[in-house]
Amino acid sequence: MDFRNAWHRDADEEVCCIACGETVARSDAREYDKYGNRWNRDDKSFEYLCKPCYREYCHFDRGGLEDRLEAAGAGTVSQGVFLRRYRDLADEAEQTRTNGR
Ligand SMILES: [Zn+2]
Repeated sequence: MDFRNAWHRDADEEVCCIACGETVARSDAREYDKYGNRWNRDDKSFEYLCKPCYREYCHFDRGGLEDRLEAAGAGTVSQGVFLRRYRDLADEAEQTRTNGR
């Protein structure tokens, strides 16, 4: 057995999806770095997501969240009012996203 090749043959390795616990081939998994920096690989062990979970993870984007909180009056109106406004804004954003692209 050639150990240099074995080291690079990632396809045989299996990893565990951190979201659903499914074991998948590493070549089928997506690296997930909780520090958001996939390029600095020193001293790191990556976590992995299987493809379905990775898609789901990407689906929950934070785009516009801060704007929305602000627009809903976070910290300036009562909680009831804020939650109502926020829900309306979130609904709007949801509709824009589904109709948009
Ligand atoms: Zn998974």
